[in-house]
Amino acid sequence: MEKLMSRILQDGDIHSGGVLKVDTFINHQIDPVLMYDCAAELLERFRDRKFNKILTIESSGIAPAILAGYIAKLPVVFAKKAKPVCMDQAYSATIHSFTKDNDYNVMISEELLSADDHILFIDDFLAYGDAALGVIDICRQAGATIEGMGFLIEKKFQNGRYAIGKSDASVKVESLAIIESHLGF
Ligand code: 5GP
Repeated sequence: MEKLMSRILQDGDIHSGGVLKVDTFINHQIDPVLMYDCAAELLERFRDRKFNKILTIESSGIAPAILAGYIAKLPVVFAKKAKPVCMDQAYSATIHSFTKDNDYNVMISEELLSADDHILFIDDFLAYGDAALGVIDICRQAGATIEGMGFLIEKKFQNGRYAIGKSDASVKVESLAIIESHLGF
């Protein structure tokens, strides 16, 4: 997606360890118009799939996910990183974060995900694919079907797309901006 690519080139910042800083338009300050356009483009790319719910992980996936939900008029569920006292049974998975170099749990209430659900997952980045694999795990626990996984930015050289395909070859993966090479990181 041209608009996102040029914004990355203009405002993105390369950090060591393969991390791209996009704090001025995605991860800290959010450009809602750009996020709306990204959400619309992701929905367009998944027009061939039927889904009834959009899933993301808190926190950076929420902006594009909620705008996709707004456009498609579908509910948006975000996997929580801490279990509130009022949450009873939950599906959960442990994810390794390479940007923070730690493991964290994500959970979705059993009330919000079931075998009737067909899911479009949306997130800000696809790197090594650990977050996506956690979501695949949670959806398996619930018996839900993942129709697609859409990302704003994919760092191809970290092979997350391959990890997703290995775990579930039926999942369609789309990314709006693909960074091909490790050069510059
Ligand atoms: P993965 O699980 O695919 O390795 O990484 C995905 C998650 O890590 C994303 O949800 C995102 O929050 C974070 N992440 C991965 N790579 C980057 C990056 O280059 N920059 C930023 N800001 N976040 C990243």
